[in-house]
Amino acid sequence: MNIKAIIWGSCGSLPSPASSANIREKVKAALWAARDQKFTSETEVDAFLHTLPHHMRGTFKANTSCVQIEAGSEDVILCDAGTGIRDYALSLPADTPLKTYHIFISHLHWDHIQGFPFFTPAYIPGNRIIFHGFHAAIEETIRAQMTSPCFPVPYETMQADIEFDIRAPGDSFQVDDVAITTIKQQHPGDSWGYRFEQHGKSVIYSSDSEHGPEAQDPNYPFINFFRNADVLIFDGQYTFLEATTDKRNWGHSNHITAVELAARARVKQLVIFHHEPAHTDRDIEEIHQGTLQYRRSYNQKFNLNDQDFFPNHIAIAYDGLVIEA
Ligand SMILES: [Zn+2]
Ligand SMILES: [Zn+2]
Repeated sequence: MNIKAIIWGSCGSLPSPASSANIREKVKAALWAARDQKFTSETEVDAFLHTLPHHMRGTFKANTSCVQIEAGSEDVILCDAGTGIRDYALSLPADTPLKTYHIFISHLHWDHIQGFPFFTPAYIPGNRIIFHGFHAAIEETIRAQMTSPCFPVPYETMQADIEFDIRAPGDSFQVDDVAITTIKQQHPGDSWGYRFEQHGKSVIYSSDSEHGPEAQDPNYPFINFFRNADVLIFDGQYTFLEATTDKRNWGHSNHITAVELAARARVKQLVIFHHEPAHTDRDIEEIHQGTLQYRRSYNQKFNLNDQDFFPNHIAIAYDGLVIEA
């Protein structure tokens, strides 16, 4: 089995699930699209739904950041503990054996830690949870969000063995046969990106990371960090216009920069992640189309043929998306 990424939370900044009005619009659009269909089985309904664009039959954003790196190992590997970590925990069968959970923390903004108080394995004695990261305040911050009057259940109620593995910039990690290298990213208060490699396949989690004009430098360190990755999960919160005007220096990147860095580093699959909560699903679908178009024109600029296109595949993250390296 190749290493893969499972997206449990794709939304940036705060949870932003679809409202009843949003869902009604989707149902209406789907019914209208199906007006000439004659269905004789639910299988045919499913097949038809599959032909609709994702924004019409689903949603791109609900939970905040959490990505599982599934490498077939006994230990569990998670990136960040936004509200998506709760859905991960809910997916575990009741008879799940005691385990070690590694949580790699990009940084301590609330959308990356706010799911942890709802992470049920932390309340089970015998489980082991190890937070890995670079911010000295990880333990203090994880504890603080569970103090009164903000939260009714104190941290001390968690009976798992919880450890904090705080490292120095440049450090790398190893979990079973997965090697993990890291990079410091431009974001208010700093954030870190993680590259997971197993048997020559790689998945990179690079959320909350701004790439300014310095990214044009041929020796820009991220090109090396992203080089030949099979999957790159990339902070594409903003449109190019937003990222280069009003939201400059807010610590996030955009879909155009995503394509350029992925193409330069010859990344195979690009996943746009950490969606702007104010964008509708339709807006995000437009970002996807813009990303595909820009990839075409960027690659054509270098006279590449279809087989040489990088990234080969571009996906928009949504809760439940699984991407195999
Ligand atoms: Zn964030
Ligand atoms: Zn942040």
